[in-house]
Amino acid sequence: MVDYICSYLDSIRDRRVFPGVQPGFVHDRIPENAPLDGEPWPDIFADVENVIMPGVTHWQSPRMHAYYPALTSYPSMLAEMLTNAINCLGFTWASSPACTELEMIVTNWLGKMIGLPYHFLHNKESDGGGVIQTTASESTLISLLSGRNITIQRYLKLHPDVPIHEIHSKLVAYCSDQAHSSVEKAALIGLVILRYVESDAEYSMTGAKLLEAITEDKKKGLIPFWVCATLGTTGCCSFDDLENVAQVCHKEQLWCHADAAYAGCSFICPEYRKWLKGVDLIDSIALNPSKWLMVHFDCTVMWVRNSSALHCAFNVSPLYLTHEFSGLAIDYMHWQIPLSKRFRSLKLWFVIRSYGVKGLQEHIKKGVKLAEKFESLIKADKRFEIPAKRHLGLVVFRLKGDNMTTETLCKRINSRGKIHCVPANLNGKYVIRFCITSQRTTEQDIETDWKEITDVTNNLLSENSLDIALQEHREVTMKRRIGQY
Ligand SMILES: *Cc1c(COP(=O)(O)O)cnc(C)c1O
Repeated sequence: MVDYICSYLDSIRDRRVFPGVQPGFVHDRIPENAPLDGEPWPDIFADVENVIMPGVTHWQSPRMHAYYPALTSYPSMLAEMLTNAINCLGFTWASSPACTELEMIVTNWLGKMIGLPYHFLHNKESDGGGVIQTTASESTLISLLSGRNITIQRYLKLHPDVPIHEIHSKLVAYCSDQAHSSVEKAALIGLVILRYVESDAEYSMTGAKLLEAITEDKKKGLIPFWVCATLGTTGCCSFDDLENVAQVCHKEQLWCHADAAYAGCSFICPEYRKWLKGVDLIDSIALNPSKWLMVHFDCTVMWVRNSSALHCAFNVSPLYLTHEFSGLAIDYMHWQIPLSKRFRSLKLWFVIRSYGVKGLQEHIKKGVKLAEKFESLIKADKRFEIPAKRHLGLVVFRLKGDNMTTETLCKRINSRGKIHCVPANLNGKYVIRFCITSQRTTEQDIETDWKEITDVTNNLLSENSLDIALQEHREVTMKRRIGQY
């Protein structure tokens, strides 16, 4: 298997990045029922190429430009092997002390690497600290539930006779109309109203617009309690104005969470920390080393200013989970939704040590440089436009004119399988997202990918637009707001 893995990754450039299969293809290749007797390993192993690989989207391919990256590296893979061998569940300090302690240390390391204020780190003076969650979505939910609890408790102190369900029904959360769909999901699970704040021409949420919405809602008797600022939106990698948003939250006593899932990785380079201005006032922030820092999924690091807020929201302490050092050491089960957690800090530790801060900075800079190259190729072709400013490794582009032509272009590119991109809806404009994902991508790859895009474009534009309209099966309606795919 190790040999297979090495040769898979070494030759991944030769594989079609996006599979040309139809729904149900695995079903057609595998028996209806489980085998009664165990099968020999060679038969199982052979089915990796026969059954699985034909239906894999190769996320590690240099030609993968969809979504945001999910990078890996050999140090991270070795850590995952060891994690799997140990397979401890680190819910309390006692359930595996090294698991808890290493997590505290590497979240401090990474926090310092991106320049977070001291109160977000594990230390004797503050109540803050980092925790590794499974995903950015879960971090958003945890912060929303913690903020909800704090607001309800604060409100009850002032109005002890108001029933909780009445307070609850008035709670309002806020995010920009460009925020990730996971914010909507958190509000659905938390049973609170979610209000989208209209972003400006740069696709940013401003403090002024947020304050306007909060003021309006307070007049209606609602209770604003939580804001999610996005640093690096999924649609076009735009940044909310954290400095002013955080000030509004601070004044209005709202929990401010920053979702920096992708772009947060870039903050290890000082030149990108301009977007973190205001971070000293916020309550929580999360980023995914599993996106851009070559650490395997799952690994989202979340820092909180006030870990007691998480404890209060999630504290349950049955006898079978108490131990000799309960209360003296961190028990991460109080910082998360599931009880159990994997030994995820090991991979972050191996990766940071193997590359060093400098090596990781170089890696981020290389990705940005390749995106700049792609951007300059697009800019030189007058048939295209770039409707949102490029930030970091993501370029969004479209053919000038109606949405239909760009939508057809995107579908045709993907059906050929040589490169893979996904679209986004930027306030009614259909755009193709081109993200530099793989550390294997070279300048040569970018040129080849651009040639593929222009080949498809040349064919498309030589056709009569009526023909395109006829063969076009539209699945997406382009509404403003409710933003992501
Ligand atoms: C990728 C992304 C998410 C979702 O990340 P998960 O870790 O899969 O939950 C959320 N927000 C933003 C801005 C993202 O880019």
